[in-house]
This record gives sequence, structure tokens and C-alpha cells, in this order.
Amino acid sequence: MPTSDGRLYGFKYVNGHPKNMREGRQTVTAFGVLADVGSGYPMLLSEMTILTALCTAATSALAAKYLAPKGSRAMAIIGNGAQSEFQAIAFKALTGIDRLRLYDIDRSASEKCARNLFGKGFDITICTTGQDAVEGVDIITTVTADKQCATILTDNMVGSGVHINAVGGDCPGKTELHRDILLRSDIFVEFPPQTRIEGEIQQLDADHTVTELWQVMTGQAQGRKTPEQITLFDSVGFATEDFSALRYVRDQLKATGLYEELDLLADPDEPRDLFGMLLRAALQPAA
Ligand code: NAD
Repeated sequence: MPTSDGRLYGFKYVNGHPKNMREGRQTVTAFGVLADVGSGYPMLLSEMTILTALCTAATSALAAKYLAPKGSRAMAIIGNGAQSEFQAIAFKALTGIDRLRLYDIDRSASEKCARNLFGKGFDITICTTGQDAVEGVDIITTVTADKQCATILTDNMVGSGVHINAVGGDCPGKTELHRDILLRSDIFVEFPPQTRIEGEIQQLDADHTVTELWQVMTGQAQGRKTPEQITLFDSVGFATEDFSALRYVRDQLKATGLYEELDLLADPDEPRDLFGMLLRAALQPAA
């Protein structure tokens, strides 16, 4: 996921492999680089697995701030893996969610999530079905991992006035919501050309109307209009979010001391004498 503002260039190398979990590996792993456009020199190499979880949760909660019903307190989280606690905490911070209804096909994932969130100001219920989890909530977050067009939510599970935060459907052939839900919802996205390929809306016609989140945030489009409206944030993860995260890390890092200077680049004394550097190195006594 590359991007640039003309001064800095950044990319995130990210992968999502739901089957990894069976082999004791994570579903989502990432690292990223920030570089100086003027010289092309890399400036920062950062882990981005945690940053992805933070960025994704922050963007979801930001969207919900504009789209969720006013005074929302209860959220269902379906899929209680690596991303789930980050989502819960971001929603508490930005929208005031303090009641969670958790559901995962693997109950131990829900128990892990509940354990990790203990003492963080949530009233938590572990549910036995998705249907049970969405009972009485204001917001539904789907954040499951399965490489298929799954149906985590069926149309009858979504009542009027709910905000859906659909996170797990994020690449071609990988969705979570039944198409009928999309047809009843007002849909908000990060960047339409990308979301039409990767998001829930890959199930819809290419000209189906969607609203870009930035338009709502800048007042150029309306977010939630009525209490009955179903709003849907079709999250896929957009490169500028990661670019902001990398720049934030770079800005905060110096003061923490939590970094290492990496000797990554060949650095000859005379820039054109790269070969000479090798010759001189060969003459050095072995350490
Ligand atoms: P994870 O593997 O750690 O957790 C996924 C959980 O979903 C597992 O506990 C699994 O048991 C559960 N699950 C699978 N099928 C289910 C079903 N039918 N019903 C209920 N639970 C089910 O994965 P993760 O790191 O938490 O990521 C979750 C999803 O979010 C992945 O699909 C990932 O690609 C996606 N993701 C999206 C973004 C974005 O920007 N939109 C960012 C990060 C991750």
C-alpha cells in the first residue's frame, strides 16, 4: 500500500491469510517504510502489525462518530481475533461504547477478548450466536477472517437505525454481509475505486451510490440523517491512514528512544566509489 505527499513516500507491506491461524501464525502481518522523496533515502522501517490494528480501529471509530446513532452505548463484535480489542477500545474512546456483545465461532477467542478487556470499563456478554450478539445493539462490528464471500450477517439480523462497521471483508472474493443488507444501507467508504474491488460493495453494481467518509468529515456530505437509517462503513484500509501512522510514529519516536539506527544501506566514503568500498573492505582483517 504505497502513498506519497511529494515530500515523503511511504508504503505498508501487509498480508491477510486466514488459514495462518491453524498453523499458529497471525492472520494479518505488516511492516512499513517511510522515505525522503528528495533523496530516495529510507528514514524509518517500522513494524505495522500493531499499527494496522490501531489505524483500522481508529478509522472505524472515527466513521462511527459521524454515522452511528447519537448516544450509542452497545456494540456487537462478531469475530474476536487480533483486531477485536483494538476496535472495542477505539469505539469507547470516540463514541462512548461501554457495552459489548461478543461472538466468535471459536468461543476461546471471545473469552480471550473479554479477558483482555477486563477492567477497561466495559460490560461484556459472550454470546452463542451472531443473532444473539446483535440483539439490542446500536453498532455491529464484523471483523471475521475467512477467504470467501461469507454471510456473517443476514438481512433479518439488522434492524433499523443500526450502524454497521464492516471490517473483515477487505479483498476480492472476501465479504461478510448479505447483499440485501447493502441494498438497505447508506454506504460510506474510504476511497470508492479501491472499495469497489475490495469491500462489501464488490457485491453491488459499479455505479451504486456511496459516500466518501472525508466528505462527511468536512461537512460536504451528510452522515446519519435519520434515527431509522442503516449506515454502513465498508472498511478496507486505505494507504493514507498508514502514511499518517508512519509519520506519527516518526514524530513521536525521537523522544522515546525506542528505536535503533539500522546499518541498512551501503555507505561508501566517496558516493561513486561503491566498488572501491568492497575492495577496501576485503583488505580489512577479519573480525
Ligand atoms: P484473526 O484471525 O485474528 O481473527 C478472526 C476471528 O474471526 C477468529 O477468531 C475466527 O474464529 C473468527 N471467525 C471466522 N469466521 C467466523 C464466523 N463465521 N463467525 C464468527 N467468527 C468467525 O484476524 P484479525 O487480525 O482479527 O482480522 C480479522 C479480519 O479483519 C480479517 O479478515 C482481516 O483481513 C480484516 N482486517 C481488515 C482491515 C481493514 O482495514 N478493513 C484491517 C485489518 C484486518
